[in-house]
Amino acid sequence: MNSEDINAIKKLLSVPQKIVIVPHKNPDGDAIGSTLALWHYLQNKGQQATVISPNDYPKFLKWMPGNEYILNYEKENRQAKRKLNEASIIFTLDFNHLGRVGQLEEPLENSNAEFIMIDHHQEPSDYANITYSDVTMSSTCEMVYNFIESLGDTSDITTEIANCLYTGIMTDTGSFAFPPTTSRTHRIVANLIDKGAENSKIHNEVFNTNTPSRLHLLGCALKNLVILEEFNTVYITLSQEELDSNDFKKGDTEGFVNYGLTLNEIVFAVIFIENKEEGIIKISFRSEGDFLVNEFASSHFSGGGHNNAAGGRSNLSMQDTVSRFKSLLKNYKNKLNP
Ligand code: 5GP
Ligand code: MN
Repeated sequence: MNSEDINAIKKLLSVPQKIVIVPHKNPDGDAIGSTLALWHYLQNKGQQATVISPNDYPKFLKWMPGNEYILNYEKENRQAKRKLNEASIIFTLDFNHLGRVGQLEEPLENSNAEFIMIDHHQEPSDYANITYSDVTMSSTCEMVYNFIESLGDTSDITTEIANCLYTGIMTDTGSFAFPPTTSRTHRIVANLIDKGAENSKIHNEVFNTNTPSRLHLLGCALKNLVILEEFNTVYITLSQEELDSNDFKKGDTEGFVNYGLTLNEIVFAVIFIENKEEGIIKISFRSEGDFLVNEFASSHFSGGGHNNAAGGRSNLSMQDTVSRFKSLLKNYKNKLNP
């Protein structure tokens, strides 16, 4: 963050404000971790803050301190709308344009609050008064740490804040494995452990809470895995029927797409998940190396994300979506055979 922005934020926060903090729709560990960490920080500074999530999120994130104060815009709509109307500052975290918040898009667009964006996705749009965007960052949680440090407040990082920030860094880096994980990421994580982050407990809370039905669903997904050797690509499909018969709960398919990349030679892994209620196929893309999945997702599947992890959607049937996907690969043959 530049010193002009830091001074502007210091000035804004030097008086009591009504603040709303918003993560993207279907928030993940980084989105919930960063918004809750910022919420704790602002509350402890005497600000009146509220986190409003566009919709529900997986149970394995609900142990985080402060979770019980998050408003779900779908379920607690009136209360959330009131908070949005009153807000003098709105922080938007872990997304790059207002189309990423679902139903919350309209109230955000109509708000007169000062907007502060903290995010690591590419091509941030320019709706915010203050934009802290850095696409080299491992996670928005790492950026919230930087944000607090820039304000001269690392000594105000409590155990609660440390636990939230650790969670988001851990999940967005694939447990410190993905390329944007730097020595600084590890130094920050070490500081968070010194501040009380319970690293082993967090790992258990997030990764070791499988239900038998989730493991069966994983089995189903792996059985459906198709290898396209010619393109160093694998894809997985999960139909609504397969989800239903394995008692699907939100978050159950998190991480399934990554299994494809554990195969030797495979550089592109995709999962297609049917959502009958929304009438779409939700797609996750992952890659290893130089194949840019965010470009692929935005060019063909109304999506976006990071170089090696992106998402998108299709309004076609599962069968037609997969056919379309397969026919697109021909144009990428060289890029997929490095
Ligand atoms: P996931 O596949 O885990 O849902 O998402 C991977 C990454 O892509 C995340 O950074 C997420 O924010 C982004 N992403 C997922 N779906 C979409 C989408 O529909 N549009 C855009 N722009 N980004 C997405
Ligand atoms: Mn993130």
